[in-house]
Amino acid sequence: MEKGKINVQTENIFPIIKKFLYSDHEIFLRELVSNAVDATQKLKTIASLGKFKEDLGDLTIHVKVDKKAKTISVIDRGIGMTSEEIDKYINEIAFSSAEEFVKKFKTKTEADRNAIIGQFGLGFYSSFMVSDKVEILTKTYKKGGPTKAIKWVCDGSPEYTLTEIDKKDRGTEVILHIDSESKEFLEEYRILELLKKYSKFLPVPIQFGTEKVWEKVEGEKDKDGKDKEVEVVKSRIINDTHPLWKKKPADCTDEEYKKFYRKLYPFSFEEPLFHIHLNVDYPFNLTGILYFPKVKKNFEIQKDKIQLYSNQVFVTDSVEGIVPDFLTLLHGVIDSPDIPLNVSRSYLQSDSSVKKISNYIMRKVADKLEEQFKNDRKKFKEKWDDIKVFIEYGMISEVKFYERAEKFWLLKNSKGKYFTLEEYKKHIKDTQKDKDKKLVYLYANNLEEQHSFIQAATDRGYDVLIMDGILDNHFINTLEQKLTDTTFKRVDSDTIDNLIKKEETQPSKLDDKQKEALKPVIERNINKEKFTVVFENLSETDLPFTIIRPEFMRRMKDMSALGGGMDYMGNLPEQYNLVVNPNNPLICKILDEKDQAIQDKTVKQIYDLALLSQNLLKGQELTDFIKRSVEIIK
Ligand code: ADP
Repeated sequence: MEKGKINVQTENIFPIIKKFLYSDHEIFLRELVSNAVDATQKLKTIASLGKFKEDLGDLTIHVKVDKKAKTISVIDRGIGMTSEEIDKYINEIAFSSAEEFVKKFKTKTEADRNAIIGQFGLGFYSSFMVSDKVEILTKTYKKGGPTKAIKWVCDGSPEYTLTEIDKKDRGTEVILHIDSESKEFLEEYRILELLKKYSKFLPVPIQFGTEKVWEKVEGEKDKDGKDKEVEVVKSRIINDTHPLWKKKPADCTDEEYKKFYRKLYPFSFEEPLFHIHLNVDYPFNLTGILYFPKVKKNFEIQKDKIQLYSNQVFVTDSVEGIVPDFLTLLHGVIDSPDIPLNVSRSYLQSDSSVKKISNYIMRKVADKLEEQFKNDRKKFKEKWDDIKVFIEYGMISEVKFYERAEKFWLLKNSKGKYFTLEEYKKHIKDTQKDKDKKLVYLYANNLEEQHSFIQAATDRGYDVLIMDGILDNHFINTLEQKLTDTTFKRVDSDTIDNLIKKEETQPSKLDDKQKEALKPVIERNINKEKFTVVFENLSETDLPFTIIRPEFMRRMKDMSALGGGMDYMGNLPEQYNLVVNPNNPLICKILDEKDQAIQDKTVKQIYDLALLSQNLLKGQELTDFIKRSVEIIK
């Protein structure tokens, strides 16, 4: 036996590994299993180069828990190590990089720590987070020279021992003697959970425990004439070694994509709308599958479902900074060894290869959407209501995406017809230009509530868009900035003549003095807090009173509801304008009426009718209106 001391540079890191890294002890298993996979892959490469001629045999990696002995073992049949290699890789390189990691870790803030601990870094020495003692039993694949199997033992101090041992099989077994605080890892379900989390798609089979499965019995039928099945106990293989994203897109079927989605999200009951298979190796290496899920109203909870892998090892499902923010609504897998993993979030966001990757993903998403739009517009329309939110989110937040998406972003009108921006412009250019040559896009966000306004507009030959999506309010601002000489007006934001003002106002039948006299008559009969009286010279046949919600006021309120820094607006009561049309004969009649009781009754009646058309007449007021109406009919 040989004793040795690890070359400690600054201080003993073992206690620090245990104490500081407390929050994420579980990653030890990912590190050990990844090492076993690496060692196996290396041997495969060496064999493929003809430098190892023996039969590789079964390369399955085994994970074992022995609750009685309080040990966890990870066993591979990879390249193994010679005693020199143990010295070089375990005692020196791995140790100093663990030291480096610990040093970096200690200087980080809490938030950054969580970011890096979820990533790679500590390697083999992370096993000391959960162990009193660690053993490595290893035998190299090499023949000739000092190729005896050896055992390395370290009990969490910088001292270790190296002993020659008898080991038949090539490869490495790492045995962890679990310490008393880490007993949870001696539970089978816990290890299973970790393996499922980190190793689900590793490229070498990982076996842990057993499972019961139903198997067909060759040539035997049950009493219903179906193939007989019996329950058998089999070794449990944790992983799918050839995940779908690694295959060529041309070789995958729709059914496979759907099946894979269910594998990734076993608790999701909705089928994805469609997928995008990513596959590049230049100028960076990236594979993956992104799915467009059906979006629910509160889409925040659906964020952060994309899983990030590095060579099939699960890294994180927090992809902030790696994919553009709006695409975090997508689901799926991204696998890239080129994403720097050992770094903090803020670094990620400024990293140039991350930027390239992010741009690539965005381009692919735009390509796919455009392709769908071009190839099958009907199908695209059917999905539109579900995918619209991604596209708008992208167009609002990324200029580059806007430039791509403006070709396939669709507007829907109140008659259920869809238009591209280009098509819509043509559709309304002759009818909806106001006197200043501005194109006015009329929209509604509630078909029911704004029905009378939509009707009035369509009667006039105008087209009304339906903008009732979660992001539409916001998106209208984006469109107004991008489209020249264009304004958006909600149909209920003004009287029909004013929405698209074609010529100068008509003459009024009442002069200013008469209006002054009429104003208090109206005001004493209405709710003055909510309604502001404004005069508008409409035609004789237009209604005497109309209630509108001015576009500007409403947008301010909508914005403050979104938290746009104008919170006081949110507290204001709903504000409306009561538009009085002095050209309607009824208005002149009210002014001429000498009996104040009749005056009030008439104002109240037409005011209530205006309220009624806006669904604003409720409670006592509604009861009074009905009574009064019956009286009038009498
Ligand atoms: P990393 O895997 O990032 O290089 P580790 O600390 O996990 O760092 O491992 C250090 C080195 O020890 C590896 O690079 C490898 O050379 C060697 N090693 C670790 N585990 C095994 C194993 N199961 N089989 C062969 N070599 C191993």
